[in-house]
Amino acid sequence: MADIAAVSGVLSSIKIATDIAKLIRESYSSLEEADQKFKLAELVDSLADAKLQVAEIKEEIIEKGSIIRQLKQELEDANDFEEKLSNLVFESPFYVNNDTEELFCSRCIEGDKKAIHLTKTGSLEMRKRVWACPECKNTFSDIRVK
Ligand SMILES: [Zn+2]
Repeated sequence: MADIAAVSGVLSSIKIATDIAKLIRESYSSLEEADQKFKLAELVDSLADAKLQVAEIKEEIIEKGSIIRQLKQELEDANDFEEKLSNLVFESPFYVNNDTEELFCSRCIEGDKKAIHLTKTGSLEMRKRVWACPECKNTFSDIRVK
């Protein structure tokens, strides 16, 4: 997981690489060839570690960006839902917007937090109009709505 510890790890790898490079530069003529090769191998290892750590951090940043976008969308949807809900009144068996007389599915509002309009069907049930939810397929009928 990319966090402050991962960033600290990268900075540590880069510092080690930098220190090794300085050591090689400052003492190039005094180091034996075997020492030079060893120090160069350490330098390459440290740079490879830093590269891997940066790649992991990049993936984490991309993933976190995706989660943030998803959460923003969910928050926006929740705010939209709350705004819609504030105009609705539960009049069993459904929710009604008394300004527009639109009907909403009580199952979808209470279960899924979605304000889904009921659609009028051609069916009657005990002389009452049947209304259907296009989302959950529940049907409702009430004497008050024709
Ligand atoms: Zn529904």
